[in-house]
Amino acid sequence: MLSAEIIAIGSELLAADRTDTNSLWLTEQLNRMGIDVKLKTVVGDDDARLEEVVKDAVKRSRVVITTGGLGPTEDDITRKVVARALKRRLSLNESVLAEIRERFKSFGMNMPERNSRQAMVIDGSEVLPNPNGSAPGLYLEHEGCAVALFPGPPREMKPMFENHVQSRLEKLAGDIRFARRVLRVAGMGESAVDEKIAPIYTKYENPQTTILFNSSEIEVHLRAHGRTEADAEALLDDLSLKIEKELGNAVFSFRGEKMEEVVGRRLAITGFTLSVAESCTGGLIAERLTNVPGSSKYFVEGLVTYSNESKTRLLGVDKKLIREFGAVSQQVARDMARGVRHRAKTDFGLAVTGIAGPDGGTEEKPVGLVFIALADGAHTEHKRFVLPGDRELIRWRASQAALDMLRRRLI
Ligand code: ATP
Ligand code: MG
Repeated sequence: MLSAEIIAIGSELLAADRTDTNSLWLTEQLNRMGIDVKLKTVVGDDDARLEEVVKDAVKRSRVVITTGGLGPTEDDITRKVVARALKRRLSLNESVLAEIRERFKSFGMNMPERNSRQAMVIDGSEVLPNPNGSAPGLYLEHEGCAVALFPGPPREMKPMFENHVQSRLEKLAGDIRFARRVLRVAGMGESAVDEKIAPIYTKYENPQTTILFNSSEIEVHLRAHGRTEADAEALLDDLSLKIEKELGNAVFSFRGEKMEEVVGRRLAITGFTLSVAESCTGGLIAERLTNVPGSSKYFVEGLVTYSNESKTRLLGVDKKLIREFGAVSQQVARDMARGVRHRAKTDFGLAVTGIAGPDGGTEEKPVGLVFIALADGAHTEHKRFVLPGDRELIRWRASQAALDMLRRRLI
């Protein structure tokens, strides 16, 4: 499998508010043709550092792509520095110069002298025309490494890649295809997941497995390569089945679906209806559920009963329970779930009450304490959580845990 690296050039990309999006797009294109991106670098307009990076890049990678720094200004150093790193001459190409002149003329302008820099071509490289800007790109093969230099603006870089470089790289890559899959896991910590599945996935080099923690879910990313997409998919099927067997129904999603989509689909299939009573999540559960198209089939209503009074008035929660056990208690959560189910006349009632913080925690009831209850006609279950994180995270995690409780009930 070919290895590639991408070098994004430009001091502005090192600023706190700029992102190198070119390399994201390029990575997608390269992966699609079966080229593995092993390294991305962002380097400022700094001769010495860029030279170092380019020298290393052509030694270790079969494909090196740079973007940016092909403009006409003093800080556009890519051409000059790449030539130096590869120990190749840089010379003025008259026909490129004539084209740039022509381009300016077509806009009724004279070419500023400094734009002639853009006609400097590295020895042995091909010029890649740029219909969307003045800076042409360059492509060359250097000691077994394919090197492409693209301009920085995405609207210039993308068509240049597609029209002039993609097919060359496809030829180089041969018949390798990638496929990827994301398994999502709820209700288990990162280490617990890894402890269970590391003995399985470490046996495989292909697919490659990475575990990511993502606010309230663990994601298991699998990436496989094969001669065809179907081959790669088959490898993914095999490994993901083994992982799923080990983790059981903690795996809630196999193709990157969100929790609310999975729950929604289950409700739609089974024909059950749902109502929700929320306190500390402030409507987040209802918001997530109703984000899913078609949710009106199963989602009947959601109430945000934030105050004690509202819990009693809208859900019929017994005042005595609140007085005796507090609003954040299993008794109140259970009463909320039963109450909302009864009043909305749904098959399920789901309720959350908790302390999202940062204030309001006590030793007995710390910040992050959340009770979730789920009622159906026959019985009511509840769970107690102490969720870590700040206010936003606690709210999100509480919503996730509530949806997960329902999901497990629907299995
Ligand atoms: P120009 O002729 O426009 O100067 P250039 O090749 O010199 O082209 P840069 O000056 O490095 O390109 O960048 C021009 C603009 O392109 C940047 O201001 C930015 O908006 C965009 N750009 C550059 N690099 C990237 C990148 N890696 N990801 C996303 N956008 C980029
Ligand atoms: Mg520039």
